Formats: sequence, C-alpha cells, structure tokens
Amino acid sequence: MTAPLRTTESTVRVALAERSYDIAIGRGLLSGLGQRIAALRPSAAAAIVTDETVAQLHAPAAEAALAAAGIRSTRITVPPGESSKSWPHLERVCDALLAARIERRDLVVALGGGVVGDLAGFAAAIVRRGLDYVQVPTSLLAQVDSSVGGKTAIDARLGKNLIGAFHQPILVIADTAVLDTLPVREFRAGYAEVAKYGLINDAAFFAWLEANWRDVFAGGPAREHAIAVSCRAKAAIVARDERETGDRALLNLGHTFGHAFEAAAGYSDRLLHGEAVGLGMALAFAFSARLGLLPQQEADRVTAHLAGVGLPTRVSQIPGEAPSLERLMELIAQDKKVTRGTLTFILARGIGQSFIAPDVDAAEVRAFLAHKLAD
Ligand code: NAD
Repeated sequence: MTAPLRTTESTVRVALAERSYDIAIGRGLLSGLGQRIAALRPSAAAAIVTDETVAQLHAPAAEAALAAAGIRSTRITVPPGESSKSWPHLERVCDALLAARIERRDLVVALGGGVVGDLAGFAAAIVRRGLDYVQVPTSLLAQVDSSVGGKTAIDARLGKNLIGAFHQPILVIADTAVLDTLPVREFRAGYAEVAKYGLINDAAFFAWLEANWRDVFAGGPAREHAIAVSCRAKAAIVARDERETGDRALLNLGHTFGHAFEAAAGYSDRLLHGEAVGLGMALAFAFSARLGLLPQQEADRVTAHLAGVGLPTRVSQIPGEAPSLERLMELIAQDKKVTRGTLTFILARGIGQSFIAPDVDAAEVRAFLAHKLAD
C-alpha cells in the first residue's frame, strides 16, 4: 500500500493552562504518530486501545509509526459498537493496561471512533490514578467532536455516559486519510456535528458547507478545512467552559430531541448518534420557528441542507415503530432536568445564533412533538 500523500496540516490549540494540547489535522499524519509522541514523552511505552474494525484497517500503520520512533507498544482490542462502553470492557482494558506494564510515565493511545476514545480515555483517567493519553480519532464524529474536550465515559444501566471523568488528552492527531475507509453512513452521521458548529455560532461556515459539502465528503482540502474549523470552534468553547457550567452546553444543540429519539431506538443502528443529532437540530430550528424566534424559511434552510446530505430530518424516516409522545416526553425529562414544568433547550434566533433557553415550557414541547410525530 502506498502511503497517502501528505498535504497541508493545521494545528488547533486547546488552551487550558497546564492541560493545553494541540490537535493536528491533515492527510497522512498517522505515519508521524511515533515521532510526535517521542517528542512529547521521550522513552514512554504505549498501549493502543482500538476496536476490531479499526484494528484491521489502521492499527498496523499506527504500530509501525510507533516502532519507527523506537516506542514499545501493545494492542488492546474491544468489539466495535456502543456496548464496549461498559463496565466489563472497562475492566478488561484496565487489566490489560496493567498487564502490559503501562506505568505513570507511559501513554494510552485511543485509536478509533468515539466509543474507543471515550472508553480508553476513561481507562486512562483511572488506571494508576491517571495516565496520559493521545487521541487518534478515526471517525469523522470523533475527529470533530468526541476526541476534543476531555469528556470520557462509559454507559450505565440508567443511561449513556453516566460514569466518567473529565480527562484531557495530551495530543489529538486527526489523520483525515483514515476517514477514507469509514462507511458513508458513519461519515454522514459525523457531518451532522460539523454542521452543528455552523448552526451554533458561525453562519458563514454553514453557508460554506451548503456550497462545499460534496467536497468535504470527497476528501481533500475541503474536508481538512471543515475539520479544522470544527475543532477550532469546539476548542474555543471548551477553553471558555471546560466543565460545562455555562457556554459548553451550546454544543448540545440538537441533542435534547436527538437523545430522546436515539434512546427510543434503543441506541441501535436504526438511528446513529450523529443521525439523531441531525434530526434533533432540524427539530430545534423548527421548534424555534414555532416559538416565533426565527423565520420559518431559516428553519427550512437548515432542514434542506441536512436532508440534502442524506441525514434524516423527519421522525418517519427512522425505521421501525415510532415512539409514543408519552415515551418521548419521559425521555426528554430524563435527559434534562425539569424545573417546575420547564426544560432547558438550545434554541436559535437564526443560523449561527443559538442560545441556551433555560425555561422552555414542557407543554409547548409536547404540542410541537405531537405535530412532528404526525408529520
Ligand atoms: P464508533 O466509535 O462506534 O464508530 C462508528 C463505527 O465506525 C464503528 O463500527 C467503528 O468500528 C467504525 N470505524 C471507526 N473508524 C473507522 C474507520 N476509519 N474506517 C472504518 N470504520 C471505522 O462511533 P462514533 O460515531 O465515532 O462515536 C460515537 C460515540 O462517541 C458515542 O458513544 C458517543 O457517546 C460518543 N461521543 C462522545 C463525545 C465526547 O465529548 N466525549 C462527544 C460526542 C460523542
């Protein structure tokens, strides 16, 4: 196999005082993984945590890059899919890190999508009271969202991501060439998170995506640009609010509606996380229009773009039986605290003008969803 051509490289800094780190974005960066790690942590050993699918496709290249820089590495593999974010797999990964004699001065390398990043990051947070780790995200969603910001977690019986820690990586390497092997459905799901940054506070980026999304899917400079803009947006929000006491909640645009549908679909491949976020964003803009916050055409523009790239924007597009209104309201209430009949939502006054609305009337949400379920 010929090595992918290296084109331009962007670096985004996540500014968090002594926990600051770089996100390197570019085609072919995986081959430099060892050199970068050796520069940051001379003579550290590494444990690569990955899933079976990514292991087959990209672990040999990661291992070769580490070996070329003289770094001893071990591979720890989990099955692909959300079910690996669980106590049994966390235990296995922690035991394997100890068995591989990964010590405080060594490193964990999370090579995979958001599942591997969340699981390996959490294992790194707790083994030996905290190991350093490097994120090497291999899905679009992980490159633009989950690998940046230090949220790590596994799922609990009572809900997703309920057991976890804030633990920032020391480096993120987003090799945009590894996305060439990502199934298009997964790429599309990650694209919803890219569009999210435009919808939150960057109308010009959203307009750029409307014009250039095909090039983003095709690869090349447009893909790198979209990933770099997304990482810069996430880094800026995380730097302002590392632990989500304020602004960081804006990143949840589309997530309140989205999570409810994702949970109702049983976190299955009926509706991927990014697809749920896409649907949730279309609904958040439609709901904002219904509340008179923005013109209907603005909400229609959001739906048109998401639908144009092939994301679901209507409830009826989720395969299988639609959830009942009662069930959805129950899930929304579970996801967000209800204070005296009001809910916190991320709403918008326009594309790029999202805001945290802490006092949304639950009755309004119910009426809106009743309408959308019948749509
Ligand atoms: P994922 O990790 O399950 O990856 C999706 C699928 O793509 C998997 O089957 C995986 O094996 C495969 N894959 C990954 N990279 C590939 C590649 N290059 N080529 C071929 N196949 C590849 O899912 P995801 O969408 O990356 O992440 C979803 C997870 O991220 C969820 O658990 C979610 O809770 C979490 N998340 C975390 C944060 C955070 O801030 N920590 C933010 C958003 C989402």
